[in-house]
Amino acid sequence: MSRRAPAASPEQLSLFDVPPTAAAADADASPAHAPDLRACPPAAGAGRPLTPPTAPQPPVVAPAPGRRGVHTAPLVHRHPRADREIVLGDCRVGYLLRRSRRRSIGFLVGPEGLAVSAPRWVGVGEIETALRGKADWILRKLGEQQERQRRVEAARVEWGDGASLPFLGETVILVLDPRVAGAVLNTDAQSLPGVPRLTLHIGLPQTAEPAQIRDVVQSWLQRQARRIFEERCAHFAPRLGVRVARLRLSSAQTRWGSATAGGVIHLNWRLVHFGLPVIDYVVAHELAHLREMNHSPAFWEVVRSVIPDLDDRKALLRDPVLPVFG
Ligand SMILES: [Zn+2]
Repeated sequence: MSRRAPAASPEQLSLFDVPPTAAAADADASPAHAPDLRACPPAAGAGRPLTPPTAPQPPVVAPAPGRRGVHTAPLVHRHPRADREIVLGDCRVGYLLRRSRRRSIGFLVGPEGLAVSAPRWVGVGEIETALRGKADWILRKLGEQQERQRRVEAARVEWGDGASLPFLGETVILVLDPRVAGAVLNTDAQSLPGVPRLTLHIGLPQTAEPAQIRDVVQSWLQRQARRIFEERCAHFAPRLGVRVARLRLSSAQTRWGSATAGGVIHLNWRLVHFGLPVIDYVVAHELAHLREMNHSPAFWEVVRSVIPDLDDRKALLRDPVLPVFG
């Protein structure tokens, strides 16, 4: 199938695959299914991007239509462009069937649902047999997609007093407070365990429009991002023996950061939602490109010299759901 995961070596793996959790399998493949990871592609010019996730399209999940007196499947997973349907376990699965030149039947479970590709000469009966043979895997992946979609929905920020969002890996609660100018972060050192200790006071009245609140918070986050990134670049650059000519904030949808041979570093301001260990990893990754403009073992050696536990930090970025600003 066309989306089959490449056997990427660890150093080629993107930190952030897009779509984040699409999974592919072959009907005739072993039970070990690699997720559909996208290799970190070379940027235009000399840049080497890290790619962030984009919000996936919601899968269409609806209750099965009831049929009186007949056992009905409780769940429907329907690909929006589904042209066939099959019952797997207790689930009705609408899937998109594509005919391809490949020699075997392949499955892809992405944010939209299940897509199947099969050679033209393979009959529907054979395809359905293959689907039943992989039913457990397909249903598990569809369930994971549904769960991820639930997380994405939960991450939608309701811009108003009491809204929360992640900042440096902690939860910050928004407080509308017309007494302050702009936005001011308060830390409650006495907060109870489990209760967020950070509040961001926004200089707006309770009657403020959601978009106004969002704009104030977003520009505050971007200012914090710049301050933190500058500080972390200043920390790592001498340790890596490199010089940053310029640091730019980016809001790219498809990358966390990039570096050019001329020493210009772009870092995505949305990194500011993550804890410092993750930010440090991305900063060190981009700065290391000023020495090795590739993802060779030598490059990872350079990153590891300042981030020995880089694998753990990478893992934290594997499938993040960022707050949806809407
Ligand atoms: Zn890179």
